[in-house]
Amino acid sequence: MAWLSGGMGTRLAWAGLAGCLCWQAGFAAAADPDALIKQIYQLQVTDHARSLQVLAQLNDEAASLTPAQQWQRRYLNAWEVMYQGDYAKSEAMLDDVIEHSGDPHLANHASAVLLSQLGASRHYTEAFELANRIAARLPQVTDAKDRRLLLSNLSQVMGSAGQTDLAVHYARMALATVPAGESRCYPASILVEALYYGKRLKSDSPALQEAFDDCPAAKAPLYNTNLHFMLADQLLHEGQPRKVLALLERIQPSVDANGYVPAKLSALVDKATALAAVGEGDAARRLALAVIAEGKSGDIDAWLKDAYETLYQVEKKQGHAAAALGYYEKFAALDKAYLDDINARTMAYETVQQHVLAQKLETEKLSQQNTELLAQQKLGAKTAEANRLYLLLLLLVLGFGALWMFRLKRSQLRFKRLSHLDGLTAIYNRQHFMGEAERVLHQLEKRKGAACVAIIDLDHFKRINDTHGHAMGDQVLCRMVAACKQHLRPVDLFGRLGGEEFGILLVDCTREQALAIAERIRAAIEAAVVERDGAAVTVSTSIGLAFTDRAGYDLQHLCTGADAALYRAKHDGRNRVVTGVGDPMAA
Ligand code: GH3
Ligand code: MG
Ligand code: MG
Repeated sequence: MAWLSGGMGTRLAWAGLAGCLCWQAGFAAAADPDALIKQIYQLQVTDHARSLQVLAQLNDEAASLTPAQQWQRRYLNAWEVMYQGDYAKSEAMLDDVIEHSGDPHLANHASAVLLSQLGASRHYTEAFELANRIAARLPQVTDAKDRRLLLSNLSQVMGSAGQTDLAVHYARMALATVPAGESRCYPASILVEALYYGKRLKSDSPALQEAFDDCPAAKAPLYNTNLHFMLADQLLHEGQPRKVLALLERIQPSVDANGYVPAKLSALVDKATALAAVGEGDAARRLALAVIAEGKSGDIDAWLKDAYETLYQVEKKQGHAAAALGYYEKFAALDKAYLDDINARTMAYETVQQHVLAQKLETEKLSQQNTELLAQQKLGAKTAEANRLYLLLLLLVLGFGALWMFRLKRSQLRFKRLSHLDGLTAIYNRQHFMGEAERVLHQLEKRKGAACVAIIDLDHFKRINDTHGHAMGDQVLCRMVAACKQHLRPVDLFGRLGGEEFGILLVDCTREQALAIAERIRAAIEAAVVERDGAAVTVSTSIGLAFTDRAGYDLQHLCTGADAALYRAKHDGRNRVVTGVGDPMAA
C-alpha cells in the first residue's frame, strides 16, 4: 500500500514533502528569523517535534519580524494547523496567505498545500474548484519550482478523481520543469503514483524504474520506500508474493528508521497479504491482526480493509467459516466506504467540471450576445451615418438647387433690368420709359394728379459728331443725362427716346414747377463743358413741354404736344423751353 499520497489516510504527504523539496536549507544555529524559517521547512517532515519547537521560537519573535517574514510565519502556522487536522482553520489561514501576502512564491506554496489538504479532508468539490483555478493560473506562474509544485499537486488531485490521463499529463509537465542536474525525484514519484492509482502501473513499467533511479534510498529514503510499496502492491496483483516478501525484507530497515506509522502499516499489511498468498496463514493472521490493533476504526482505512481481506482469505482457507464471515463483513463495509469515497471524488470532479462547463457556455453565450449587440450597434451606427450622409447629400443638392435658382433669378432680373435700360446712358430705354409713363399716368388720372411730359433734343448735335467724332458725341450724351438727373426727383421718369432725344415725365408738379425744372435743365446742359482729347465742347438743348391739364392723360397726346412744342423751340432758334400750342404759358 502506497502511503505518501492519494488522499487516503495520508494527510502529511502532498504538501509536506512538496515543501521539503522546495526549501532545501541547512540547519541554522543562530536565531536569525530567515534561518529559523528555513529550518522549519526542513524539519517539518523529518523531525516534526523539533520543527514545532523552532516554530514556537519564531512565534516568540513575531514582533520583530519583517512583513515578508510575518507572512512566512503565518504560512508555517497554517501548515502546522493543517498537520494537526484542523482543516477549516488552516484553510482560512492559507486563504489569507494566498490572497494577501503579495508574495507569489508563498501564495503558490499555500495553494499547493490547500489543494492537498482539501483532498485529504475530503472536501473534494472545493479541491477540484481550487484545482481549476490553479490550472487556469498556471501560465502566469513563471517560477519553475512553483510550477513543478503546483503541477505535481494538480496531478495528485486529478489522479484521486480518477482522471488518470490528466494526472499523467500534469506529472509529465512537472517533470519537464526540472533543469538538468537537479533532482527529478518528486515529480517522478508523482508520475508513478498517477499510473498506480490509474491501475496502469506494471512491476516493470519504465516510469517506475526511472523513479527508482531518481529517488535513491540514500538521498530520498521516504520516496524510495513509497515507490517500493507501490511496486509491492503491483507484484501482489501480478501474483508474485515471494518477490514481495523479499522486497519488504530489503526495505524493512528503512521503514523502521523513519518510524512513520503509515509506512509501518503498509509494510505489515503487504507482508500479511503476501504470506497468505504463499500459504503461511498463521503468520499472515498475526500480522493482519497487528494492523487492526494499530489502525483507527471508523475511518476509511485502506490498511484495515486490506488486513480484513487477508484475514478473511486466511480463515476461509483454514475452514473457519464463522470467522471468515465476520472478517468478510468488516472487509465489505470498509470496501464499500472506500468505493463510496472514490465515487464521491468522481462525482465532485464531474460536478465541478459541469459547473465550469456551464459557466463557460454561459460566458460564451454572453460574449456571443455581446458580439451580436455590438454588431447591431455597429449596424445602427452605420445606418445613422448613412442617413446623415443622405441628408447631407440632399441638403447639398437642395442648396445647390437653391443657389442655382437664385443665380438664375438674379441673372434673369439683371437681364430684365438691363433690357429696360439704354446701353449708353443707363437710363430707361424708349420702350420701358413709355410703358412706365403710361402706368404712372394711369394712376395719376385716377387721383386727378398733375404731370408734364418734356421732350429734350440736343441742338446741332450732328455737328459735334462730325467735328469731334462719335466718341465725343457719346460723352456729351452721358454728360447731358447727368446734368438732367441733378434736377429730377425720384418720382420722375427719365428715358432716352432715341439718338439725342430724351423724354421726362414730371409727376405731381404744377406748370410753374415744371417750367422751372425744364429751365434749370436747359441751363445746366448749356453750362456743361465736355472735354476730350484737348477739345472742349458745349451744347445747348431745346425742350418741348405738354401738360396733362390740357392734353389729358393719354401719353400719345402728351408726346405729340411736347413734340410740337419742341419743333417750335427749334424753329424759334433753339436753346429754349416751349410749352404746347394753345397753352396759356406757351413760350
Ligand atoms: P437739330 O438741332 O435740328 O436737332 O440738329 P441735329 O444735328 O441735332 O439733328 P439731326 O437729327 O440732324 O442729327 C442727329 C444726329 O445725332 C444724327 C446722328 O448721327 C446723331 N446720333 C444719333 N444717335 C447717336 C449716338 O448714339 N451717338 C452719337 N455720337 N451720335 C448719335
Ligand atoms: Mg434729334
Ligand atoms: Mg438735335
